[in-house]
Amino acid sequence: MQQGEFELIKDLRSRFRPKNRKILGIGDDCAVVEGDWLLTTDALTDGIHFQSKVISFEDLGYKSIAVNISDVAAMGGYPVYALVTIGIPEKMKDSDVRHLADGIEAARDEFAFEVIGGDTVKSKTLFLSVTVVGRPFVKPLLRSVAKDRDFIYVTGTLGDSRVGLDVLLHRSQERPLDQDYFLKRHFRPSPRVHFMEYVSRHITIHACMDVSDGLLGDLSHIADESGVGFFIETDELPLSRKDFGLSNDSELDYLVQCALNGGEDYELLFTSPDVLDLSKIEKKTGVKVSRIGRILAEDRLVQYLGEKRIASELLESYRHF
Ligand code: ADP
Ligand code: MG
Repeated sequence: MQQGEFELIKDLRSRFRPKNRKILGIGDDCAVVEGDWLLTTDALTDGIHFQSKVISFEDLGYKSIAVNISDVAAMGGYPVYALVTIGIPEKMKDSDVRHLADGIEAARDEFAFEVIGGDTVKSKTLFLSVTVVGRPFVKPLLRSVAKDRDFIYVTGTLGDSRVGLDVLLHRSQERPLDQDYFLKRHFRPSPRVHFMEYVSRHITIHACMDVSDGLLGDLSHIADESGVGFFIETDELPLSRKDFGLSNDSELDYLVQCALNGGEDYELLFTSPDVLDLSKIEKKTGVKVSRIGRILAEDRLVQYLGEKRIASELLESYRHF
């Protein structure tokens, strides 16, 4: 594949710009069609998005649904229906497929939607392709409405999933004390539906999306779609720092890198014109929220460990291709 994923999608987007002006097509976390139905689809392939040797089938089933539900939450909504396609290699056991279904069922029970169909096909590699249909709690929240001087907020902690992946693949010098916490964050993302239920009714949100490719890349999507810039401070990023044994500079640098570019956090990134009461929101939803910066008219800047940097210098989003 010569073109990157983003270039390809840009091409598809101009080719398939909806003729019906009332619908929102390619470019956001979900499409929005008449009646405000939210539609999204995401596929996971063995060897690219997961390694079947290290993830349990139950976690894989759960995660395949969770990543889609996260896109629905990112649009201000909750899931209603799901369609699940499974590509099954010859050697896979029936009991493995049933464990996949156990994970899907656990997600179904947790988020109260219906699995209404899908497809089961033979495949050389294991893959799952899930489509979720949802509804907004109040109205669809888009990436394209960030305004100059908005505050930028993010839920939970960032970078944990990447730390978990590095632990799994023995890729980093830095080792957290509580490895299980990071592995769980990697295998079982928590789509922020319940959080969204509260905030969409109680606070003013301008732009919103989920952090799936890494904070900097995803924030750049909000900036591109809204025609604005941003300023964020790495000192303000919510890192799971306490879960590390040491607290030296290289460790902090590693955690900041994971937060900026790690991917697969499935936290929500949103902008608001208001200074929010963060402890009240946390009390009401059980989810921590951090203010990490502001929307600017043009520039894209990061106060990176005390030094002012241009975002593009630090941007190294994980690419699937
Ligand atoms: P997310 O990370 O939120 O799931 P993606 O980066 O996967 O979003 O996709 C960005 C946008 O491009 C979405 O609106 C998605 O529906 C659209 N898209 C991606 N691949 C295709 C494709 N093959 N055909 C049409 N639209 C696509
Ligand atoms: Mg998304």
